[in-house]
Amino acid sequence: MIELKDYSYDREQMVEQQIVKRGIKDKRVIEAMKKVPRHLFIDKVYQHQAYKDYPLPVGKGQTISQPYMVAVMTELLELKPEHTVLEVGTGSGYQTAILALLCAKVYTIERIAGLKEKAVQRLNRLGFRNIGFMVGDGSLGWPQFAPYDRIIVTAGAPKIPDALIKQLADNGRLVIPVGTEFYQTLNLVEKYKGRIYRKELFECTFVPLLGKEGWHKD
Ligand code: SAH
Repeated sequence: MIELKDYSYDREQMVEQQIVKRGIKDKRVIEAMKKVPRHLFIDKVYQHQAYKDYPLPVGKGQTISQPYMVAVMTELLELKPEHTVLEVGTGSGYQTAILALLCAKVYTIERIAGLKEKAVQRLNRLGFRNIGFMVGDGSLGWPQFAPYDRIIVTAGAPKIPDALIKQLADNGRLVIPVGTEFYQTLNLVEKYKGRIYRKELFECTFVPLLGKEGWHKD
């Protein structure tokens, strides 16, 4: 059967109620969130919940972040159309799509091959052509295309990985949840003239960043 529901009303409501009302002001972020069909990043069984105010499972024990969290993190990046962005934790690819609408090029890393493959298919089908994908340990960054104007990590880290600080461009911004495996504080790191400035913003909950500069799992 053909899927007729396009969810555009639900999406409009999500943006108005969960994002604009809670104080997100960046017009480009708001427009991007109105455009990207979030339900296409979620398995059929959960699709009717795609525009609700919480994270959802995307398989392999991982989650697609709450829409508001995607908006907050994206706004904090202060993206410009010419920027190159590194994303750690592709997951469903939803945050990747938002980034790709707002900047020149996104490099995204996911440690689980099955999730990366699904994200590649979705984003190709939607017509995105400015995304580079890699399966690997994003706690080490992706040195080949560094430096990055912006870096976003969508998994919780025990500390800010040195590799990411190194790969951040001057005048760059990095957003990353840092804390325990169960809850974290969102950190904003800025680099000016080679110096690092760090702000702790608010509490949040992400799945753990696993890897060499993340949490270690045997
Ligand atoms: N932004 C994603 C959220 C994904 S959840 C979305 O909107 O769907 C975080 C993701 O980070 C998971 O898919 C997990 O597998 C991945 N991850 C955890 N540690 C990682 C690492 N070291 N490198 C790359 N990806 C990692």
